[in-house]
Amino acid sequence: MSALALLGGDPVRTALFPGYRVIGDDERAAVNRVMDTGILSQFIGGWHPDFFGGPEVQAFEAEWAAAYGCAHAVSVNSATSGLFAAMGAAGVGPGDEVIVSPYTMSASAVAPLVYNAVPVFADIDPLTYTLCPDSIRARITKRTRAIIVVHIFGQAADMDAIMAIAAEHGLVVIEDCAQVPFATRHGKPVGTLGHMGVFSLNYHKHIHTGEGGVVTTNDPNFAERVQMIRNHAENAVIGKGVTDLTNLIGFNYRLGEIEAAIGRCQLRRGPDLIRQRQDNVAYLEAGLAGLSGLTMPHVPNANTHVYYVHVMRYDAAVTGVTRETLVKAIAAELPATELREQDGALIRFGYVKPLYLLPLFQQQQGYGALQCPFKCPHYDGVPTYGQGLCPNTEEAHRTVITHELMRPPMSRADLDAVLAAFHKVWDHLDDLRRLDDAAAA
Ligand SMILES: *Cc1c(COP(=O)(O)O)cnc(C)c1O
Repeated sequence: MSALALLGGDPVRTALFPGYRVIGDDERAAVNRVMDTGILSQFIGGWHPDFFGGPEVQAFEAEWAAAYGCAHAVSVNSATSGLFAAMGAAGVGPGDEVIVSPYTMSASAVAPLVYNAVPVFADIDPLTYTLCPDSIRARITKRTRAIIVVHIFGQAADMDAIMAIAAEHGLVVIEDCAQVPFATRHGKPVGTLGHMGVFSLNYHKHIHTGEGGVVTTNDPNFAERVQMIRNHAENAVIGKGVTDLTNLIGFNYRLGEIEAAIGRCQLRRGPDLIRQRQDNVAYLEAGLAGLSGLTMPHVPNANTHVYYVHVMRYDAAVTGVTRETLVKAIAAELPATELREQDGALIRFGYVKPLYLLPLFQQQQGYGALQCPFKCPHYDGVPTYGQGLCPNTEEAHRTVITHELMRPPMSRADLDAVLAAFHKVWDHLDDLRRLDDAAAA
């Protein structure tokens, strides 16, 4: 058997993996349909028949709501915008706290800051990496106004328990669904379980329009407020007859007609793209079974997992090889992916650093000389962002291995190369132990 590529041997494979392309002829035709009209956005930022956008935007929203079985789907130009709008719609403001996850893309934790509220980090469940209900409960104060639940990596948080806590305390629950389109919990679409769901249509997501997002809700008041915040609320309130102006300073979070037209195709394509990810993960997991120290993701019975990334736990005490060395050795066996050649093999140790360790939270500078909202005169809590705040998150950060090597259009032959790389590395653990020992000496 050849030596590890990390130690100068031949890699398992050098031909690039296929690039992530989920856009095809349907999308091209949809774009041309819009191009032919010459109207690339039909929004008007005031009370007018076009306040709700053009035909593609409105059709996309109706189709999304139908697919999700929810009353309202409001398109926005990113999930980040959607989260900000949801904070505004929920009435979050100065002096409030919003419970957030530390193990997510930063937008889901900084959204409260846009309305001058303080993010309070609860810890994650070590098995699903989603917010732990007991930890949420422990962080609730008289100032808590909302919870941003992140359904991370492809599956839902324990929404049953979280909605019960929210009902008890009168909290608004926003589901960050950027990583879980078409995932279900108890057979229901994730994103319709809380008060508002926020989806991303960014290029990296399961389905995409380049940039874009959708906010789902069954509450007509939240839907109206998100629509207002999306499109210059201040110009529309008189015409629309809206009298509660709380947080209704409008932004421009509008999605264009081209993106909406692409989104309609992607929505139809979604279930098939998800099935490919699930099939690929099942194949990989069968092939990885039995590798010492490696644990596959836990999927509670209530959930379907849609695998935004495939996250495994690695126990270095079992193999005697550090996670960093192990991942470097696997990566050295594998090629990069077309369109992302500069990123190397798409396997990493860790996901994101616990977000409370970002300079934003460590320095708590915030807005202006008063350092709002952290030290704002309206806020009578004490922001807490120290190392050790969320032990399960810090542990996950130290022990997970994540990869994207199950994304369409990876073929069985591509997946076999991935499996061969893992097995080759596990067959050479002795060499890697020696490498780690030499580095430690
Ligand atoms: C990608 C992502 C976002 C941000 O989505 P954009 O559409 O790029 O703004 C937010 N939350 C999570 C969990 C994400 O993965």
